[in-house]
Order: sequence, then C-alpha cells, then structure tokens
Amino acid sequence: MSKDKKCMMCGKPSPDTICDPCKASVQAEAAGEKAKMERSVKVGGKMADEQSKKRS
Ligand SMILES: [Zn+2]
Repeated sequence: MSKDKKCMMCGKPSPDTICDPCKASVQAEAAGEKAKMERSVKVGGKMADEQSKKRS
C-alpha cells in the first residue's frame, strides 16, 4: 500500500481520503440530498404507510 494519500475527489495530496475543501463540499451535497429525500418521503406517503402498520 502506498503511504502517499491523496484526495479521492480532487487528487491533491491529503492526509485524509478526502481533503478538507472537498469534504466540505461533499457534506454540503449530502445535506442537500438528505433534505431532498426527506421531502420526497413526505410526499410519497411512506410515513403514512408506517403509521398504519403501527396501528394494526
Ligand atoms: Zn480534494
């Protein structure tokens, strides 16, 4: 295994798998995706389905 780690996002030498600037952008993207998914779940009626399961 090589000791030279580099960012998997931008390829720049980094002590981490993902460098700080890329990590920040990935987290921002993930937060956006999560918000999008939560919205679609509410619209899709999955929560209502789970509630009916609990009742029966
Ligand atoms: Zn990077």
